[in-house]
Amino acid sequence: METEYVLEMEHVSFRYEKENVLEDIHLAVPKGAFLGLVGPNGSGKSTLLKCVLGLLKPQQGHISLFGTPIESFKEWYRIGFVSQKANSFNSGFPATVYEVVASGLTAKRGMFRFFTKNDKQAVLEAIEAVGMSAFAKRNIGELSGGQQQRVFIARAIVSKPELLILDEPTVGVDIHHVQNFYNMLDELNQRLGITLILVTHDVGTITEKVTHVACLNKHLYFHGKAEEFEKLGEDALSQFYGHSLHVLSHQH
Ligand code: ADP
Repeated sequence: METEYVLEMEHVSFRYEKENVLEDIHLAVPKGAFLGLVGPNGSGKSTLLKCVLGLLKPQQGHISLFGTPIESFKEWYRIGFVSQKANSFNSGFPATVYEVVASGLTAKRGMFRFFTKNDKQAVLEAIEAVGMSAFAKRNIGELSGGQQQRVFIARAIVSKPELLILDEPTVGVDIHHVQNFYNMLDELNQRLGITLILVTHDVGTITEKVTHVACLNKHLYFHGKAEEFEKLGEDALSQFYGHSLHVLSHQH
């Protein structure tokens, strides 16, 4: 059977002003993959995401989503996005976990529509999938950064996207809970079959859970299966990150 790709980038180059920020990017993400996209700060990760989400138009190259050129792609509901900045409710914010997750449905279908039994079920399932069932009635502002991040993932998956893009999802997650957090992502990938793209500046947060790795620093320095990435060894990675590797791996 031919491999299906949820995302394909070919010869993609992007520049804000004169200099290219992305240069000749080739990236193919197969359906069902769990891709870790890593690169130091300023390496073009956000720019690449904005190109994939249709917010920026590359000057060169092609992007396809689910086999459709991005210029004519209309099924944006198939893609969920959780940005690192979502994680910012203070203790006074008057919404429960359930309400925040349910808002993921209203965003898709419009506000003026009553929830059906199926909608309510979908909200509870999404909360369960991120391991937050015990917190459904709690106020979002009372939760820790890592718990809030789980709620935002639930909000993104309640409308059942096929591809979920996570920008620096472990920022704000307590170090002791990072492994559990990855287990949860692994379950979304394995059990619900959601293709995941996890973006991070810290190569140390890429775990054995990912199936594919892409290392970005304007060019794609490496793109392939996780096993091949592991074979690269620390020397190659140090070269990629320069002197900052040591510092980065101790930040979390
Ligand atoms: P990352 O997400 O990996 O930190 P970015 O995609 O944000 O990297 O940035 C890549 C490069 O593009 C950086 O040198 C940054 O200064 C530059 N850049 C980002 N946004 C803009 C912008 N709106 N205008 C001009 N340059 C930008």
